[in-house]
Amino acid sequence: MEQEIDPDKVYDYAEFPDKVSGRCDNCNLAYFKSSVTGGVFLRECRECGSATSKQFESLVSVLLRLIY
Ligand SMILES: [Zn+2]
Repeated sequence: MEQEIDPDKVYDYAEFPDKVSGRCDNCNLAYFKSSVTGGVFLRECRECGSATSKQFESLVSVLLRLIY
């Protein structure tokens, strides 16, 4: 089932994991602006602005994904 993605909403990664790992669900590009606020890793797509939040514990796996 297709899910409409609201670019203004911050999606929780636990609820909305990437369809394709490391790529934006909305535009399928891999250009992200990343920040950490209050222990939550925030990944915002540079193309469409769709944001995904990740808990800080999973930051290591996020970084690994960004590197490889
Ligand atoms: Zn996007």
